[in-house]
Amino acid sequence: MKSREHLVQRLGKNINGYFGESIDISAVLKDCIAAARARKWIAEKLSAVPKLDLLAFRRPASPGIRESAPHDSRIYISAGIHGDEPAGPLAIRQLLQEDQWPADASLWVLPCLNPTGFVINRRENAEGIDLNRQYLQPKAQETVAHIDWLKGQPSFDLCFCLHEDWEAHGFYVYELNPDGQPAMAEKIVSCVAAVCPIDNSEIIEGRPAHKGIIRPSVDPRSRPEWPEAFFLLTHKTRLSYTLEAPSDFPLSVRVAALVEGVRGALEGKGKT
Ligand SMILES: [Zn+2]
Repeated sequence: MKSREHLVQRLGKNINGYFGESIDISAVLKDCIAAARARKWIAEKLSAVPKLDLLAFRRPASPGIRESAPHDSRIYISAGIHGDEPAGPLAIRQLLQEDQWPADASLWVLPCLNPTGFVINRRENAEGIDLNRQYLQPKAQETVAHIDWLKGQPSFDLCFCLHEDWEAHGFYVYELNPDGQPAMAEKIVSCVAAVCPIDNSEIIEGRPAHKGIIRPSVDPRSRPEWPEAFFLLTHKTRLSYTLEAPSDFPLSVRVAALVEGVRGALEGKGKT
């Protein structure tokens, strides 16, 4: 398929920060709850703090599949840890509403890890804390609740963290794959390329990149401030993808990029 790269241009309005659209996060989360309930997903609240809408949705693999398959495929997807990255929660809403998943997939889906940040359209939470630096020594109530909840879940075969980057020239993805499992990053990028430009820079965020893929060789133990993906890699998974949509492009393009990225990775992982 011909790439839309030539048709979609940077907006040029996100200089030194994100100045694009914000979303009504409580309305988006209501839509997510309605979609999850309609399809009999299990909805949980992660925090007892009133007015802190930290939600998780779970769906077990189809019963027939679960009995016949040796192992269901356990997939975790989170979004909205940065309150100025609206495409993530919107992508999760679309994925929940469309409800197309591999039948052997058991799913854990968290649509918004930083609900107070979205109210002020800011990366940090209402207390000014970047929640994606909290996962080694958590102090923020959001992160404490998230980690408590994660400790009660099984390990995951595959994790996605959905993000946006206002500096990016296109979509890119971080792959954390320490055991050298079959990589999905190329598939993710090729699926996203049909709907969104790819950032082909050779250095992205100070790391070597190749055709929109960053494979950081980082040892989490060497870093003092852990993002969510480091906690997942250390305690819950051996394969993690952080998808970064480019904020300086139309919101509909960024949402499509994240949706297609997840879809691309899951394609071929079983029947939907
Ligand atoms: Zn982010």
